[in-house]
Amino acid sequence: MFKIKVIKKFAMFFRTSIKLTTITIISAFLIISLVAFFYKPIYAVTLNGELIGYTENKSKLQNEINKYMEGEEKEGVAFRQIDAVPEYTLCLLKKDIVPNEEEIYEKVTQNGTQYYKYYAITDNGKEKLYVSTFKDAESVIKKLKDKNSVNKNDIGIVEKYDTKTKEFTSVDKCVSKLYEAPKVVYTASASSGYVSGSSSAKVDIDITLIRPISGVITSRFGSRESIRSSPHRGLDIAAPTGTPIKAAASGTVVSAGYSGSYGNMILISHGNGLQTLYGHCSVLNVSKGQAVTQGQIIGKVGTTGNVTGPHLHLEVRINGVLYNPQNYVY
Ligand SMILES: [Zn+2]
Repeated sequence: MFKIKVIKKFAMFFRTSIKLTTITIISAFLIISLVAFFYKPIYAVTLNGELIGYTENKSKLQNEINKYMEGEEKEGVAFRQIDAVPEYTLCLLKKDIVPNEEEIYEKVTQNGTQYYKYYAITDNGKEKLYVSTFKDAESVIKKLKDKNSVNKNDIGIVEKYDTKTKEFTSVDKCVSKLYEAPKVVYTASASSGYVSGSSSAKVDIDITLIRPISGVITSRFGSRESIRSSPHRGLDIAAPTGTPIKAAASGTVVSAGYSGSYGNMILISHGNGLQTLYGHCSVLNVSKGQAVTQGQIIGKVGTTGNVTGPHLHLEVRINGVLYNPQNYVY
């Protein structure tokens, strides 16, 4: 009798348990369905701790941001930096929350720093000009080598990254700006027999030269004009025909006479390898072998030889090399 009672009690308890479990499962299921009906998992995106929006597709959004940082879609842009990296937190939020990836992208990238990539062309290590591609930089160097530019071995390329881009120069413009003509070597002729080259450098001389005439400089040493086939060998000073020409320093007349494109010219040796030449004279007042003093009138301005108007063509030669007269006088 007692045993039956125990069994009955146990059976009742067992039934109650089953009922309770069933109710619990059903309730849980209902709650989950309810949550699933009203809520969804979504990533909240924060930037510097500030909530800037939501995305359901975190990897797609981050890919877009990565692409921006790689600077993919814009030419010349090497990479970009963004001030802060977005952070993603998975949340369960009401379904009416709208993802706003575009807005997030804008906010993340708006304070980005763009780095441009370009190339500097250097001469002796100094940045001279800029081009946008390595190919351009290479062809500038190649062209300078082809033209045998004096500085061909000093030209280099430096890859540059900067937040600002530079003004780019075309390949041909770079070449013409950087080109340095090789020193002109003149063939020494038997009659003049003095000149072997020219130099833009300045060599110190102990002798002080004075201006042979005063007038307007119309062509400088080394200038290239359409009427010339080679760089200008001297300095042209325009003055009316008949203007007296003074010896720039004392010395000895090496030659005085007509000489091709120089017309009537005088060459004076001042010692220590220094010589001065006066071309296109109308009148010659000295002759070969004559000693002259500084300031002595040696001839007069004229238009003999290759000229477009009356002027004195003045040359300075040191040990047979042409130098810029303006380094010593005028
Ligand atoms: Zn001249």
